[in-house]
Amino acid sequence: MSCQEARSLLHAFLDDELDLTHSLDVQHHLDTCPACAREHAAQRALRGALRDEALYFRPPEGFTARARAALRATAATVGAADRAGPAVGLLWMRRVWLPSGAAAALLAVVAITIWRFGPGAPGPSADDLLAQEVIASHIRSLMPGHLTDVPSSDQHTVKPWFNGRLDFSPPVKDLAGEGFPLTGGRLDYLGGRPIAALVYKRRQHIINLMVWPASSEADRSPTAAIRQGYRLLHLAHGGMIYWAVSDLNDDEMKEFVGLVVR
Ligand SMILES: [Zn+2]
Repeated sequence: MSCQEARSLLHAFLDDELDLTHSLDVQHHLDTCPACAREHAAQRALRGALRDEALYFRPPEGFTARARAALRATAATVGAADRAGPAVGLLWMRRVWLPSGAAAALLAVVAITIWRFGPGAPGPSADDLLAQEVIASHIRSLMPGHLTDVPSSDQHTVKPWFNGRLDFSPPVKDLAGEGFPLTGGRLDYLGGRPIAALVYKRRQHIINLMVWPASSEADRSPTAAIRQGYRLLHLAHGGMIYWAVSDLNDDEMKEFVGLVVR
């Protein structure tokens, strides 16, 4: 298991959401990779800290009255502070806030939380959100009558069907010879844009392959994830983003994606 794979499964691992095989794979990776082990320890510590009741800070006796008095005093001196520049304002903040260790601790937690979960943080990533949308689309497609807009096993029927419906032409391959027959395609809407969903079958398993143009030409090697019992594999190849989703096993998913980008 690669670091990238391990990281993508870390949240599910911490939540005990992985099946036994993946759980063991992640555990094995953590046992052998100090960098991922550190990330795992940090995430576990943060989760523990955010659950800690000690963080629910009760203000000391008279805190509200003192805060009100300080605010009134500030209102009176704010004009002076403006004239004296930001240093006086900072001094005021130090006088009001720093005597309270609990408030400082609370601020630290807020700062950590914003760092961890706020904008630009490495927290729930765009990929995580996209994964949810891909799963939702997959589940919707399995409902009767929702699987394909153009039911056809012929790539020369499916590919042109998207003309005039999308602002790009998705690569469509028939993989029947390799045991993944094309079943059709449909329009879908993911990550704020219309995309092509190509539908393939492996025995009785349905595979949805979502395709849309990448914002950069750089290829990205496959990243795996498991959500709600479905397996996801996504990558960038040849200027396109691919997300494959199915209830197939890991090996067959990798085989399928390998054929798609071959
Ligand atoms: Zn690692």
